[in-house]
This record gives sequence, C-alpha cells and structure tokens, in this order.
Amino acid sequence: MIIILNQGVTSDEKNAIRSALKEKGFIVKEIVGQEDTVLGAVGTARIDPRMIEIMPGVSRVVPISKPYKLASRELKKEDTIVSVGKVRIGGGRIAVMAGPCAVESRDQILRIAGKVREAGAVILRGGAYKPRTSPYSFQGLGEEGLRYLREAGDMFDMPVTTEVVSPRDVDVMKDYIDMFQIGARNMQNFELLKEVGKTGMPVLLKRGLSATIEEWLMAAEYLMASGTDQVVLCERGIRTFEKATRNTLDCSAIPVVQKLTHLPVIGDPSHATGIRDMVSPMALALVASGASGIMVEVHDNPDKALSDGPQSLYPEQFERLMRDIEALAPVVGKSVERIPRIVPESIKAESAKVGTPSGSAVIAFQGERGAFSELAVRRTFSEDEKVLPCKNFKDVFDAVAKGEAKYGVIPVENTLGGSVLENYDLLKVEENVTVVGECEVRIIHNLIANPGVRIEDIKRVYSHPQGLAQCKEYLDVHLPNVERIPFFDTAGAVSYVKNEHMMDAAAIAGSPAAVHNSMEILVPGIETNPRNYTRFFVISREENAAEFRSRSKIDMASVTFCVPDKPGALLNVLDILRKHEINLQKLESRPILGKPWEYSFFLELEIKDVAGLDDVVALVKEQTTGFRILGYYTKAH
Ligand code: PEP
Ligand code: MN
Repeated sequence: MIIILNQGVTSDEKNAIRSALKEKGFIVKEIVGQEDTVLGAVGTARIDPRMIEIMPGVSRVVPISKPYKLASRELKKEDTIVSVGKVRIGGGRIAVMAGPCAVESRDQILRIAGKVREAGAVILRGGAYKPRTSPYSFQGLGEEGLRYLREAGDMFDMPVTTEVVSPRDVDVMKDYIDMFQIGARNMQNFELLKEVGKTGMPVLLKRGLSATIEEWLMAAEYLMASGTDQVVLCERGIRTFEKATRNTLDCSAIPVVQKLTHLPVIGDPSHATGIRDMVSPMALALVASGASGIMVEVHDNPDKALSDGPQSLYPEQFERLMRDIEALAPVVGKSVERIPRIVPESIKAESAKVGTPSGSAVIAFQGERGAFSELAVRRTFSEDEKVLPCKNFKDVFDAVAKGEAKYGVIPVENTLGGSVLENYDLLKVEENVTVVGECEVRIIHNLIANPGVRIEDIKRVYSHPQGLAQCKEYLDVHLPNVERIPFFDTAGAVSYVKNEHMMDAAAIAGSPAAVHNSMEILVPGIETNPRNYTRFFVISREENAAEFRSRSKIDMASVTFCVPDKPGALLNVLDILRKHEINLQKLESRPILGKPWEYSFFLELEIKDVAGLDDVVALVKEQTTGFRILGYYTKAH
C-alpha cells in the first residue's frame, strides 16, 4: 500500500509510521517526489489500512492494485533515474551501452572499448561468464575477463556491465563492475535475483525468452524487495513462431512497461534480431518507441568473434547508428546521454568558494512549473536540482547575477517563431552573466483540460500567443468557434484553467505542464508544424562558468559588437572570420537603445578551441566598438 504523507509531516511522525509498519512485517520505502512524500509498504503482512490512516502525518492510504508493488507506477509517479557511475539512465535521456558479446582477450576489449567510447557509447558491455546453449561453446574468461573489462572501463572512463550467472559469483563480481546484468535465461532465477538485489547495486534485467511483461516486472520486484532500487529493464526479443530473426523484438513492450513502472526500460536489438543488418533499424525503432537507451553488440572482427559475431555491428556501423540516434532524439523529446567530463578539482574548489556546492544548485527559468523552459532545465541538469521559476526573463538574469541561482536557462530561438529578441538584449546589458551552455527542446503542444472535460464542452482555449499561433491549423479545423485567449505563459495557462476549475475551457501547453497540474491531455501533438524546436542558452556568473563548461568540449562562441557607420564595416569583420576559417552560424542585429538607427550585432561562431580565438578577437576589436564575448558553450545539435 501507499501511504501519502501530509506536506508538513515531522520526522517524528514519519518514524512512528515507519515503525508501526515494520512491526507488522512490512518492508518500507520512502519516496520523495517533487510534490508529495510517500511511504510504500510491501510484504506478506495484512493490516487494516484505517489503522495507518488515523496516524498523525498521514494524508491517505491507497492500496497498490498490481502484484508488483515497489516497481509499480502507482507507488512512484516520477521516472526513476538509475545512476551507473557517472551515467544516468531514465527520464529524458537515451543511454547507449555497447561492446562485444564476450570479453575474449585484454587486447580485444581495450580496442573495442576505445571505438565505442569514441562513437558515443556511455556504458561498456562484455560478457565474462557466458550462458551458452551448448556446453561446448566458449564459456567466457571468468574473473580474468572481469579484470580486462574493468581495465578497459577505467582506461576510457566508462562504467561497465556484465552478466552474472550464478549467486556464488556475485561477491567477486561486485568489485569489478558498475552494473550487474541478469540475462534472459536467468530472469526467473529467483535465488540469483535475491543475491544480486542484496548488493544494492544497479541491475540491468533482461526480459526472459518467453516472459510476459508482468512476469518480467515481478522479477524486478524480487530485485527491489531484496535491496536495490536501481533497476533498468531491457527488452531483448521474445520467442515466437517466427524464424526469420533470432527472436521477435517486442517494441510495443516499451510504452506498455513505461506506463506500468517508474523504472527505465531500454532495448537490445542485437539479441532480438540476431542479424547485423537488422540491428540499427530496430535500435532506432526502440528509441522511437520511447526506450531510455539501447544495448548493442559491437565487434571489430565479427567473423572471428567467439560468440554472436553475426549480430555484432562493425564499429563504423555503430558510429552511423549513434549519429542517427542523435538526430532522432529531439523528435522524441530526449537527449543522448553523454559521459560528463571530470571536473578538475581546482575548478570545483573555485566554484565551491563562491557558489553552491554541486548537487544543490538552483536553476532559474522563466515560466511556471511544467513550462518548456523547465523541460530544457531537466534536459541539461539532473532531476534532483532545485528550480526557481521566474516571472520574466529579466528575473532569470537577476537571479543568476545575484547568486540566487547558480545557473539560468533562457530561450534564444525557435525554429518557427525566430529569435527571442528580449534575451539577446539582456545578454548584452547584463555584464555579470555569461553563456556557458546550449540545449534544444522539441516543442510538442497538447490540448489540456480538467479531468472530465470533453472536447465538445470547450468554449475557450488559453495559451501563450506563440502556442495559439503554432496550433492554428488544429484550432481552425477542430475548434473553429472556440475563443482563443492569449496568456503570458503556456504552463501558466494550464494552472489557471485548473485553479479556476474551468469545465468549459482548455489550455495549450507541453505535457509536463499537464502532469505537473494533474490535468488531462485531451489531444496530444496539435502543433501545425512538427519541426518545432526551441534553442536555450544556459547562463551563469563567471565564477561558475568553468565548472559547467568542463562537462564537454567547447566548440561555440557567442559575441556582440557595434560597427562604425561606413561602407563595408561589417564585411571587414566577416572577412577576419573567413581568413581564420571560423564558421558563422548565426547573425542577429538589434537596435541600440538611445541611438536611433544604430545596431549591435550578435554572432554565433563555430570555434576549434577557446585559446585559439585570441588573435581573432584582437583583430575584430580593431574594427568594432563595444565588443564583448557573451560566452562559450558546446553546440547542442
Ligand atoms: C548478452 O547480453 O550477452 C546476452 C546473453 O543476452 P540475453 O541474456 O538477452 O540473451
Ligand atoms: Mn551476445
């Protein structure tokens, strides 16, 4: 059962509830959500829920209807993010795990690890204990294989995962690896699940060859009841009558599972198809189905591979697949997980002196909770960072400049609406902030209303003018007589319709706004043009910039300047860029306040490195006035 606690519950009250449940023989887990804190009580014990309901601090008690409890979405509404070393799986991320089927030699795993890391994989796989159909096939290198896998992981700064086949190996394995893998054949090996669960470590749980989704989730429940809450599910094909492929990839399991559980679910197209040429299309199908990642087998000499050669991608094929996944990710509203670079201790120490300790940063954005800007925040920062919703863009800049927020996220451009000019102007005048990052979000609009409202009830629809304009075609065709009311913010429109209990109105906004306000999506995806993306800048004060920028390689610079009023003035600047082979990505001009008919220019430049820019800057300064570097960042696409 789920015990929903009052907002102001004290720790004494919480402890009393927990003790009462434990005394009755329940396993108790606390789940702290964005809104509520709940206790999940599971086990074989029976209790009259009213006994708990009357305890101080309890808001209500709800039974969990599913046989799996800890794994159930009923218990935890928010996605679980599983941390494997520095890599995070779940939420808006796509994590790619790759490597050979088996670790065959030290040289082999080091070679392949380097290649998959270079292409963008974030977790290294490789079997050391191989459960083979035939006892005469290669059984894996055992502990020697684990050693090589660990060495490869350390050398290329990647967490590693490998399959565990026996409870007696768990103890040895846990010192070598970052995530256990339970293979399809062992999904219902309950003794193994219990032993692995006890470690509390992350576990990748493959779906059994002929397991139903419910049986699969029950296996996850075993792991969770034994002590780990870090479980990643993996669809790897099931056995059907079809013989053309090794197994039948059950793509539909991905959205089904994601509805039933808060745990992340990924897919393995290699074991699902068994055929190299089918792996990439099915990997993309998995991503399109909503998978939080994929696991693929890669080998640089698959003809000689000791296992699963025919389904292993060549490194070049894997690299192409990574590029396709990168292109597909924003379409499904996700971003490809990258390995955060190591932040040098000197930078950490420097920012700790002046800023908030990392992990407790506050991130400012404009709009209400659930706004597209918050989606950009979640895409860039981890889910547990605190957010500071601000009324307008200037407030975001102020919060960052004053140190109330460590970072801010501001929209700068939409593929349909063009530049967000106000933010360019603010970037120019707010000299205490600098651009440190970039992020891209696909804008999907939905028709959102209070539960129970039907389309035919709607008389008014509220949204930001951009939201209304971007859904014009849908509104014209389906709701021609409905009044369109502009609102300052999309997510704000949703909370307004909710708070006013409107049963004859709807709002247009992104799905997080519906989830955040417990509202219903009546019609999803009503935007006229699906190629609707917004680009955001991450801003910070100078002292926090290095920490953020050290996450990935800087390849962009944003600058502003004015040019004298004479022929060819701008051309002179562009010529300097051309001579230094600097690619101009964007050029924007804005009128200068108080100087009619004079303009500042904003340039976004593709750069090779920051240090190499000094000469160019010196030359550009000679030709311009008011030159300022607005910031450096890593390109988002
Ligand atoms: C593997 O990933 O190496 C493997 C054996 O997969 P499965 O358990 O899905 O067959
Ligand atoms: Mn394999």
